[in-house]
Amino acid sequence: MTVLSGIGYDSHRLARGRKLILGGVQIPGDLGLEGHSDADVLTHAVIDALLGASGLGDIGQHFPDSEERYRDADSLELLAAVLPLVHAQGLELVNVDATVVMERPKLAPHRDAIRESLAAVLGIALARVNVKASTGEGIGFVGRGEGVAAVAVVSLRVAD
Ligand code: MG
Repeated sequence: MTVLSGIGYDSHRLARGRKLILGGVQIPGDLGLEGHSDADVLTHAVIDALLGASGLGDIGQHFPDSEERYRDADSLELLAAVLPLVHAQGLELVNVDATVVMERPKLAPHRDAIRESLAAVLGIALARVNVKASTGEGIGFVGRGEGVAAVAVVSLRVAD
């Protein structure tokens, strides 16, 4: 069986007056993420991992932030739009593993909701979508609470 892997990385700045959306789930708090779209850093990392494994470039090529139609875009809709591109390559998703790197709030209470949200769009079992949480330990832009980063890895297999 041929398996292809892809990696995605993204980061966004934290700001007042913005929502914090991770994997399509809104997390309550004072700060949200700044960006042209909804700035869902986790979903963006997953999209880039899917595009990477499929040999289809990156999120900026498919959804340029210079285009007005992607302003405040729901990133889950962008993710849903990428899946047919993956399938058109004769590939199907096996699993997703991701890490969100964020100082606060704690991700743990929202982890399963995020996994369910992503699994529903990706069309795979909940057990195949893993979301981990890490912090910046006070170091760098994450540690200073200036932003959030996310990394994701996906595996694709050649469809039967
Ligand atoms: Mg992004």
